[in-house]
Amino acid sequence: MDYPRPGASAVTVQAPERSFMLAPLEGAVERASIGETSTARRVWIKVGLQRAQDADLRLALIVPDADMSGPVDAQFQHALFGLIAFGAAIFAAAGVLGEFAVRRKTARVMNTIARIDSGHYEPGTTASFPRGELGEVMQALDRMARSLAQQRQAIANHTAQLERQARTDPLTHLANRLQLLEKLQLEIAQARRQERLVGVMVLDLDRFKAVNDSLGHSRGDALLIEVAGRLQESVRPQDMVGRLGGDEFVVILPNLQSTEDVMPVAHQILQALTLPIEMGPATWQVSTSLGVAIYPIDGSDGEVLLRNADVAMYGAKELGGNRMARFCEQMDQALTARLQTEAGLRHALQHGDLRLHFQPIVDAGTGRVVAAEALVRWQDPRRGLVSPQEFIPVAEDTGLIVPLGAWVLRQACEQARRWQDDGWGDIPVAVNLSARQFIGSSIEDEVMQALASTNCPAHLLQLEITESCIMDQVDQALQTMHRLAALGVELAIDDFGTGYSSLSQLKRFPVHKLKIDRSFVSDIGRDASDEVLVQAIIALAQKLGLRTVAEGVETPEQMAFLKTCGCDEFQGYLIAHPGLAADFTAVLQQRNQPGQLIP
Ligand code: C2E
Ligand code: MG
Ligand code: MG
Repeated sequence: MDYPRPGASAVTVQAPERSFMLAPLEGAVERASIGETSTARRVWIKVGLQRAQDADLRLALIVPDADMSGPVDAQFQHALFGLIAFGAAIFAAAGVLGEFAVRRKTARVMNTIARIDSGHYEPGTTASFPRGELGEVMQALDRMARSLAQQRQAIANHTAQLERQARTDPLTHLANRLQLLEKLQLEIAQARRQERLVGVMVLDLDRFKAVNDSLGHSRGDALLIEVAGRLQESVRPQDMVGRLGGDEFVVILPNLQSTEDVMPVAHQILQALTLPIEMGPATWQVSTSLGVAIYPIDGSDGEVLLRNADVAMYGAKELGGNRMARFCEQMDQALTARLQTEAGLRHALQHGDLRLHFQPIVDAGTGRVVAAEALVRWQDPRRGLVSPQEFIPVAEDTGLIVPLGAWVLRQACEQARRWQDDGWGDIPVAVNLSARQFIGSSIEDEVMQALASTNCPAHLLQLEITESCIMDQVDQALQTMHRLAALGVELAIDDFGTGYSSLSQLKRFPVHKLKIDRSFVSDIGRDASDEVLVQAIIALAQKLGLRTVAEGVETPEQMAFLKTCGCDEFQGYLIAHPGLAADFTAVLQQRNQPGQLIP
């Protein structure tokens, strides 16, 4: 039974159809889909006819495949579309809801980032964070903001500290140069409007380098702090105290009516600073040189005023220190000369422009040369031979005395050794030690080095130390002298009578000689009291077992008087001027030949 669709071709029975129909029946009904193409495919349903079993008849119902599966496919397609649409709708809804939730969290994250970006690091308003990764991101951002806030605070503190440091002196906490100059400019502007004066003082402690060298830097620092405190107590509330560095302090005195107004403050300061300062077991007596410059008379600008006050301070130092000096033009010239000397001396040291001269010291009895004093000179290409009196103080102030002193020591040892080698016997050479060299910690090493490098026996070196240099720090000087004496070198006190050695202390010093200062010798025959002093010094030295050398002997009368007093040795122009080693050797030839006697 064929059920063709209208317009469809009639069923054809071919091999597949035939074999389906002829195949033995396995069940009551069997079904197969047969056909070459989908349009030609038909569903064959065969049923065995029960009553014609013997005949093996079968009945086939043939329906086009399309008619059978078409409605099922359409139904399925509908269901599938519905499902997809529903799924899509659910998905879209979930997406919208998810998007909404994520958006809210992202917005919070973005807000936090924007807040941090704009520099507001304080923690967010809500303490709770959503769960999930975005929540963790928000927590991390919050932590970052907190840490940034802390860092910002630390940076602010640091900056404030740096600003303070940039304007204050770290040791004394006084204003530094920068702050002083700011204040000065401010006060100058005000003084200009109100027709007032501004005073600027520059202070420098006298011989502070010696304190530092002998007591060490920590004691030196303690001294500076004490000085800073005293300065602040000595000034008016409106004044400013500052430190330029080292031992240089500045005081700014604003709003003065007359130049005289500086005086009471200056006196107050000088007085406060001269009071002894306790430094552990020792007490120190500080003195100060104070220079003053006044706006608008001595300068109209802060830098100029500071500089001129500094020049005035050098002027005060030049006058012996422990005093005040007001700026004047001559001082400026003096300072320029000093700076030139310093530069020239530096050049001289580097280029071998120093010369060592030797002056004979003769025995009072025999007239033979018993020693030499080494005296340094500077062969300046511009000025000629420059006296040590001109450059030694500058060398001391600038520290150039250290290389200079080492050079002199070496040259002196070398020469003493050479005279010995040349057969003149022992001619010890006396070298002058400056206070800075003597108080410094390395003098022993320097002496040992000079002796060793020139192979000079220690007894051929004598060291001259001035009285004032010893008296500044008696105990320490005593220790240094003992250490030097232990090396085998002889020690002499130079310029004796000009300092303040107490006689009781004199016997404690391990010295061999006293050199009577030239000022006493030159007064012989003119000043009876100086003659008495010379007699007393010689008598004292004899009692203490010390040899005496008279310096600056220029006339036979002086020599005769000194001889009657029992003076042991003479040095002076009467015998010979200081000269180069060759000149000295000529004197040796004159006086030290065997059997020769020039009384
Ligand atoms: P000083 O140690 O008292 O040296 C003696 C000074 O008196 C020398 O002056 C010498 O030339 C001078 N003189 C010697 N005999 C006579 C005389 O009969 N009449 C006069 N009017 N003067 C005489 P100079 O060479 O100018 O030295 C001056 C000072 O410079 C020395 O005084 C000494 O303190 C210092 N000096 C010299 N050389 C050195 C050195 O190498 N190192 C150190 N630290 N100081 C030195
Ligand atoms: Mg001397
Ligand atoms: Mg002398």
